[in-house]
Amino acid sequence: MDNCIFCKIAMGEIPSNTVYEDNDFRVILDIAPANPGHCLILPKNHAADIFEMDEELVAKAHCLAKKIATALKSALKAEGVNILQNNGAAAGQSVSHYHIHVIPRNTGDNVTLNKEGNSMSSEEFGAIADKIKAAL
Ligand code: AMP
Ligand code: ZN
Repeated sequence: MDNCIFCKIAMGEIPSNTVYEDNDFRVILDIAPANPGHCLILPKNHAADIFEMDEELVAKAHCLAKKIATALKSALKAEGVNILQNNGAAAGQSVSHYHIHVIPRNTGDNVTLNKEGNSMSSEEFGAIADKIKAAL
């Protein structure tokens, strides 16, 4: 997919705050995090949504979501984690390349899902990415 930004990020053609990579996926920090440490799991092969995803890859993506959630709990002392995956504009999907959100949560953090995210400096992104990488 020539014009897909998540294809370019997943393939490393556009820089990102990557916390994990294997043959099938790249995991990055969301540019407008609901909370610091908000990760996105991106498959390297383009699929617009879950309906275009190979079933085995969906299973692998969810195993990876558990691995990332576990790292967020230990690296960031998150009390809880949301795992969220939107399909179609009507469901709040804004980038048409399948992705899973893994969002660290704490009691009273006032996060409202599907609201506009927060901004962070590149130093803040780098520091939190290093913490998560060290827990993986
Ligand atoms: P969704 O609304 O489920 O499609 O989620 C898309 C997510 O991608 C949003 O949380 C955006 O903040 C995030 N996003 C969009 N562009 C980028 C980018 N270039 N790098 C990292 N995250 C991005
Ligand atoms: Zn794509």
